Parts: sequence; structure tokens; C-alpha cells
Amino acid sequence: MISLDSRIPSGPVEQKWSKAKFDLKLVNPANKRKYKVIVVGSGLAGGAAAATLAELGYDVACFCFQDSPRRAHSIAAQGGINAAKNYQNDGDSIHRLFYDTVKGGDFRAREANVHRLAEVSVDIIDQCAAMGVPFAREYGGTLANRSFGGAQVSRTFYARGQTGQQLLLGVYAALSRQIGSGKVKMFPRTEMLDVVVDNGRAVGIVARDLVTGEIKSHSAHAVILATGGYGNVFYLSTNAKGCNVTATYRAHKKGAGFANPCFTQIHPTCIPVSGDFQSKLTLMSESLRNDGRVWVPKTKADIGKRPSEIAADSRDYYLERKYPSFGNLSPRDIASRAAKEQCDDGRGVGPGGRGVYLDFADAIKRDGENTIREKYGNLFEMYERITGENPYRVPMRIYPAVHYTMGGLWVDYNLQSSIPGLFCLGEANFSDHGANRLGASALMQGLADGYFIINYTLGNYLAGLNAQKDLVDAKGAAFSDVESSVKTKLDKLLGIGGKRSVDSFHKELGNIMWENCGMARSKDSLEHALQVIPKLREQFWSDVSVLGGKDTFNQSLEKAGRVADFLEFGELMCKDALVREESCGGHFRVEHQTPDGEAKRDDEKFCHAAVWEYVEGSEPVRHVEPLVFENVKLATRSYK
Ligand SMILES: Cc1cc2nc3c(=O)[nH]c(=O)nc-3n(C[C@H](O)[C@H](O)[C@H](O)COP(=O)(O)OP(=O)(O)OC[C@H]3O[C@@H](n4cnc5c(N)ncnc54)[C@H](O)[C@@H]3O)c2cc1C
Repeated sequence: MISLDSRIPSGPVEQKWSKAKFDLKLVNPANKRKYKVIVVGSGLAGGAAAATLAELGYDVACFCFQDSPRRAHSIAAQGGINAAKNYQNDGDSIHRLFYDTVKGGDFRAREANVHRLAEVSVDIIDQCAAMGVPFAREYGGTLANRSFGGAQVSRTFYARGQTGQQLLLGVYAALSRQIGSGKVKMFPRTEMLDVVVDNGRAVGIVARDLVTGEIKSHSAHAVILATGGYGNVFYLSTNAKGCNVTATYRAHKKGAGFANPCFTQIHPTCIPVSGDFQSKLTLMSESLRNDGRVWVPKTKADIGKRPSEIAADSRDYYLERKYPSFGNLSPRDIASRAAKEQCDDGRGVGPGGRGVYLDFADAIKRDGENTIREKYGNLFEMYERITGENPYRVPMRIYPAVHYTMGGLWVDYNLQSSIPGLFCLGEANFSDHGANRLGASALMQGLADGYFIINYTLGNYLAGLNAQKDLVDAKGAAFSDVESSVKTKLDKLLGIGGKRSVDSFHKELGNIMWENCGMARSKDSLEHALQVIPKLREQFWSDVSVLGGKDTFNQSLEKAGRVADFLEFGELMCKDALVREESCGGHFRVEHQTPDGEAKRDDEKFCHAAVWEYVEGSEPVRHVEPLVFENVKLATRSYK
């Protein structure tokens, strides 16, 4: 049975991290080079971790499936990164960022982790600015801020609409320095296909060279997964096409608990789906809600009219009406549900009635087009290229879409999974965002984990190992067994010789997930999904067509492995959503809502993280880690 000791340090919440940093064991600087560390993932979390650990002296191997670390999905992040700097003098503090994040997550995150995140947020900005990340600045040279949802202060640092790209270039520079000095060996275009566990400890990985097809074992004293989120289980999402669950799901099958898999974030401002042919959805950053006003016509009679033909008093600025304190900057889960509510009511705009307006006319009138262009120019351009409409002249049309996954591998305070020696960082873990992530806090978490936390907590683990004796031979039985099971699976996929493409299965699964385990879920819909997913999986294993061979570059084979994992993982998500008989954050069970349609938590029964244990050939087992709130009072979340 998996152990769920959260290892939260004792003492007041604001002292826990300082205490932990003192209590955690250290590795002597001269000994660090004797320890090998594998980092899977080179996005913000993995790239930062690999660079930081190498800088400390560890011998690091870093893997990613793209051709360069610079192409990690983190590059897509647009809006910004939070930090409790209080540069605006508007009342921000570490405690407020901590409070907003716990509340924003609908009280389903661990207080101690969130407080630590708020504490280190301030260091991230200093570090990135020192590295040359070109954050936006005020006229006088100080760093600029804007607001994101769920906060009443401006604490979001940004680089136009390309914050992730600029932060990733910073990480890449740090990583390149270590690659150049030989401390990091980089394995691009290499996909981890399994983690190797020996005597209950993670001792390495088995990976496939995506260019040559070679399967190879890599041994290390510890393995870090920073492999991103699994939103693509829905097929259509704002995530990069390559994002997948394979690394974490295969680690789960090796004994790592998977926490809150059903916690998915639906982002309110994405370009609406425009047809069946689509394979990707595009985010319009939340930052746009600083200046854009969200509305739909008040009456169905106005639906077919052009927005300019609808008078101001015939428009329903429903976020401002329903949530006057936070208005257009209400958190994502709330704004998404409100958009769905308007469209379900028949007042949605655009093709199919699945859209609401995001209107900049007032902001342009107030601040001028140039100011708006300076702030959001590249986002406006992207919108125009995709839709053919000029958002300086007509309102954008937006609709919610799958965007982020709060669930992930369960980790303790030290970011270690339930398998000793296997750590998990960034979006891939479950740790900091509860049931709903606030905007601009994923970049903060990835960099906090990679630059400022794993460097302490990994040392504590390694200090307990013997550098020589505890490095398992990559040619030994522990590795060769895993290698042969990886090869068998690839052969099986190639040998099916069916008629349907991998994509067609993925699309069908995505549709099942969206309709039954998406923005709204019910007992009936989830039970339906749990009936049809296993059937689809069976069809996949008998009728999928995977062309090409395994000893060569073969994207069809890569995809097939990932979709096979999604087909198992989707079922786990539905099971998790079915058992959680409450609504919280992005998990909205229609049976559990207040009379005005807000999420209704059940703290008595569900104030915990649900952690699933994989059991071969049998039903997964659900464990719980109770959540204790000593610093933020459990209360009904209100943004009114
Ligand atoms: C369009 C968009 C905009 C966003 N904007 C913001 C924003 O403004 N602010 C914010 O805070 N957050 C934002 N987010 C969320 C944020 O970008 C992500 O949560 C974050 O970047 C994830 O970083 P990561 O390092 O955990 O993972 P990723 O950047 O996804 O990196 C994953 C890495 O793991 C590697 N990998 C995965 N599986 C394997 C495998 N099996 N073998 C080898 N390598 C593997 C990949 O190659 C990659 O290097 C946005 C998300 C999207 C989709």
C-alpha cells in the first residue's frame, strides 16, 4: 500500500519552509558530483531544476521529447507570472498571495505548500530579472504589473503576451550554460517510456530515442518528472499538441499515487470551436480581462445582430452584474461556468451560439488604441489571424476550453512522490492549486519548484544514499525487465494492423471526456463515460492502425502510446469525479450547487486530496490525505 506521509514541517505556517531548509540534510559540495540525477522535462519546471541542480554540482541528465528545450509547452504561456512583491503598494503581501491561492483553489490545496510558494514567488522575479528576462516596465524603469483573476491587487509580472517564452529563454540560457560546461547531458527527442523501480526506490528510466527508435536504459540516484499537464485527454485543449500523461501515468502504474485526477481547469477566454476538423484550441490570455468587458445580449431577440447594433442598455455584462467586487476578473472556474450559463440560456453569440463577447471598445476609448496595442498587440494579432476579425473594431468572441490540470502525481512537502527517489515538479504534480488554479500561478509554481525548492529537498534524499552502492547498473535485471516490457508494448501497437487512425480514437475519447467529465459532470454522465471508455479502449487495441516501424522516426507510434495511456487515464478521471460528491473549483457536479448555480463544497466528507493507487488487474484504490486549514478559514468562496 502506498504511504501518504505529507512531511509537512511543524510550527507556524510562515516558519515551516525556513525550518525545513535548516532541518533538511545537505550533501557535501565535494560529493555532489558523485550523484546522478535524471530530470524528465525541460519546460520551466524541469529546465530550471536541471540548471539549478547542475549549478550545485550534481551530475544531471535531462530529457525532453521536443527537438529543443526551447519548445516545451511553457513557451505558450502568455499572460504573466504572479509574485507578492507589492510593487504597486496596493496591499499585496506573502500572506495575501497565500490566502488568494488557497481560496482560489476552493480549499482543496495544502496550506503549507501554498505558503511556501507565496514566499519564494518574490525570489523568482529577482532571479529572472537578473537573468535578463525582459519584463514589462513602467515609464520610470520599475517592473510593471497587471491583474489576474481571483485577486484584487496587481501582482502579475509580464512580458507582453509572451511571458512563458521569455521565462523559458531565461531557463534555457541557464540550462545551456550547464550543458556547455558538461554538467547537464541533454537528451532532446527522447521520450521516457517507463520509470525503473528497484527495491522500492526509483533508480532510473527507460527511454526511446525518437529519431532512431533505440530503446535505452538510464540509471540515476533519483528521478525527477517535470512532464507537464494532461489536458489533452480531452483532445481539444489550449495545450500544445504534444502534451500527454504518459510519464506520470506510467509512474503511477509503477506505484506513484495519482492525486485528484478529475481536477481540470476550463479557461473562460479561448477562441470558440469552429468545426469538426479542429485539432487545437487557442487561448486568449486572461490578462485581456484587465481591459476587456465580457457581455452577451440581454435578450435572445438580439442574437443575430452585429454587436455594434446592440445598444449599451441591451447588453448583459453578466460578470460585472453577478460578481460586482471582482467583475471581469472573477476566477476562471466561475467565469467559465457563467459563460456556459449564458449560452445554455440561448444568449450565446457566434456560430452555434457557443460564444460570449470580450469587448475592448471602452478601454480603447479611455486609453487609446496605442496603449491597448502596447499591452496586448500580439494577442490581438493572433486573434485576427485565426478568426479574420479585427478585435480593435469588433469584440472578440470567446468560450471556455480545457486549459490546465490541477491533478497530478501526489507529492509530499519535499515534492517526492509515493515512490522514494521519484520527485515530481510543475504542472505534473498536484501540489499547490487545489481544485482551481488562479491565473499566472502555474509559471510561478514551475519556477518555484525548479529554482528554489527541489535543490533543498532532493539533497535531503540523496544525503541518505551511498553514491557508489546505490547506483543501480543500467545493464542489470531491474532495467532489462522494464526494457523488454516497453519493447513488447511497442510491438503490440505496431502489430494490431487495424483500420482506424490513432487520432480518431483520441478524438472520440476527447468528446466522451468533454461531454461527460467536462465543465459540468453528473452521476449519470460519469457512469455513462465509465461504460463507454473501456469499450473504446478495447476497440483501440483491436482496430488501431499504427503505420511504420519502431526502429525509426515514427510519430504515429509515439501518439499511439500516448493515446493508449489517455484511454486508461480518462477512466481514472471519471472514477475520481464520480466519487467526489461535491462541487469545488473546476470540479462541478451538477447535483451539488447552490440555488444560484455556484459550486457547493462538502467539507465534512471531501476536505481531502484523493490519491489513487494502481492495482494490476483490479480496481484502483482510493486513499485520502486530509487537508487541515489552520490559517485560512474554510468558508464559502464568494467573489460577489
Ligand atoms: C496557452 C497557454 C497559456 C498559458 N499562460 C499562462 C500564463 O500566462 N501564466 C501561467 O502562470 N501559466 C500559464 N499557462 C500554464 C503554464 O504554461 C503551464 O502550466 C506550465 O508552463 C507548465 O510547465 P511545466 O514545466 O510543468 O511543463 P511543460 O512546459 O509542459 O514541459 C513539459 C516537459 O516535459 C517533457 N516531457 C513530457 N513527457 C515526456 C516524456 N514522456 N519523456 C520525455 N520528456 C517528456 C516535454 O518535452 C517538456 O520538456 C498557460 C498554459 C497554456 C496552455
